[in-house]
Amino acid sequence: MCEFCTKHGDGKVWYKNAANYANDLLSDIKRRKFIEDFHLTTMGEGFRTLGRLETLFMKKGRLPAGVIRALEEKAKAEHFGQVLPIEEIREIVLKAESVVRMPCACRWTMTKKEERCCYAMSYSPDPWYKGFDMSYFGKSSDEGLEAVRSEEAIEQMAVLEEHGAIHSIWTMMTPFIGAICNCTAKDCIAMRTRSGIGAHTIARAEYVATVDRELCIGCGLCAEHCQFDAIEGDMQEGVRIAVIDPERCYGCGLCRKTCASEAISLARRQSGHVHP
Ligand code: SF4
Ligand code: SF4
Repeated sequence: MCEFCTKHGDGKVWYKNAANYANDLLSDIKRRKFIEDFHLTTMGEGFRTLGRLETLFMKKGRLPAGVIRALEEKAKAEHFGQVLPIEEIREIVLKAESVVRMPCACRWTMTKKEERCCYAMSYSPDPWYKGFDMSYFGKSSDEGLEAVRSEEAIEQMAVLEEHGAIHSIWTMMTPFIGAICNCTAKDCIAMRTRSGIGAHTIARAEYVATVDRELCIGCGLCAEHCQFDAIEGDMQEGVRIAVIDPERCYGCGLCRKTCASEAISLARRQSGHVHP
């Protein structure tokens, strides 16, 4: 069992523990303040810090281990994410009392373009996000938070996946779970932190992709669509069979979606390997 599940799972995978969605966690003043200031501090300052660290990383080739550790520990305590395949997204969203779609804070922070690929969900009739300050996006709350039915949200997320989105679930001051993002490795600040400076602020899925060598025809489409460079080829009787590196694979399922031969499936990852 991974560190998050041990601490916050109550014997389950942490994001399947109903207690982590409960509104009584919002009685914590520190958490309420974190949510109120989320866009300006976590996103705004986080993005500026990442920019500075990326510049330093490029100059020096590495960052001090203490800096990386501090960044990872801060993320784990405040706003930590994990990649989830669409079937688990479905399970989680269907249990929500209400769901809203809103602009993606990462994309807005980086490009100032509004892309509505983030969803906040509430498991209580009194949604935690009702006071969310949407002025960050130049919107009023009414305009910024768009109510959607659970089934509709799942369908929208499946369409986003068709366009290369990776689903992930996020804490708003751990362990409270509030949101699902559908982003790409290039646009998600957490995924960029991993690739840009080697700090892990998002966990891999509980799953890893596996290839049925008998079904693979070596078309290479899965490797083209993998945003983590986790797929290579292995020649077998003149065919370049796909081979997945489990250490690189984040279990997003995009390769599975791509494979017309249905040669790829997601299997439960060995415990202890979820957090790189
Ligand atoms: S997409 Fe499917 S058939 Fe094509 S290389 Fe990947 S696993 Fe093989
Ligand atoms: S190998 Fe497949 S499941 Fe793993 S990260 Fe790449 S696209 Fe996602």
